[in-house]
Amino acid sequence: MIKVDRPRDSTPPDLILKGRDELRKHLTLEPKKRVFKEYSSEPVRKKLTELFGRKCMFCESLLAGTQSGDVEHYRPKGKVVVYPKTTAVAAHVIPGYFWLGAKWPNLLLACSDCNRPRTQDDFDGNARVIGKANFFPLADETKRAIGTWRVRQEEPLLLNPCIDDPAEHLVFLEDGRVQARLIDGVPSAKGEASIYYLGLARAELLQMRARHGRMVRAAIRHTISALKEGRDPGADLEDLEAFLMPKEPYVAFSRMLIYKYMRQHLAALGLSV
Ligand SMILES: [Zn+2]
Repeated sequence: MIKVDRPRDSTPPDLILKGRDELRKHLTLEPKKRVFKEYSSEPVRKKLTELFGRKCMFCESLLAGTQSGDVEHYRPKGKVVVYPKTTAVAAHVIPGYFWLGAKWPNLLLACSDCNRPRTQDDFDGNARVIGKANFFPLADETKRAIGTWRVRQEEPLLLNPCIDDPAEHLVFLEDGRVQARLIDGVPSAKGEASIYYLGLARAELLQMRARHGRMVRAAIRHTISALKEGRDPGADLEDLEAFLMPKEPYVAFSRMLIYKYMRQHLAALGLSV
């Protein structure tokens, strides 16, 4: 996951008016009967793709050629499943953030494996249900904005790539694994929750990142060899530039690898991580 800028004036055409109409109709309905459609209209999907690329904004896997991707609500619109920190209280369901159903800042593009609940192997080989679904954990549950329309008081534990800088909370290892970054010696709570709920360390994703890492490292090796021998790195340098483009897959991981092995060459090569 990388930080991406969502320009203030980027709201897709018609979303504000149509979203407002939809919300007005739903206010009189009981929660179960509310059906949200405007958030996933073609202009919304197109705008998300145009701004952030055809990739999942959570795991950075490419959607292009494999799936259309889910227009995902950062704050769930229908309901929220809350798991209290103490096991003495059972998980329970509370109403969702229905008033944010068609709000542009609440919409992200995600792959189905990050977004939908499905049994998948995690990093340790153990299968568990992975996917954001209706989870939206907070640092302090007592501050949840249930129907109060005030969300600023909340401290979400899931990283939002348009608000947080994921690099402050996640750290990638050379083999593609991801861990919560230590902050003052303590793993980032946002990093831990995002890895757990979004499945950022799920087995198949680790394999994909590892494969990507092999390509990046090959380009790094070839580029460094060329520099040592006084040759033009040519296509290998072009590959490194491409790996760092924000709309490419696994950019956070590419940045880590390129910085680790090439930090002394970055300025001379005009690369920025
Ligand atoms: Zn994903």
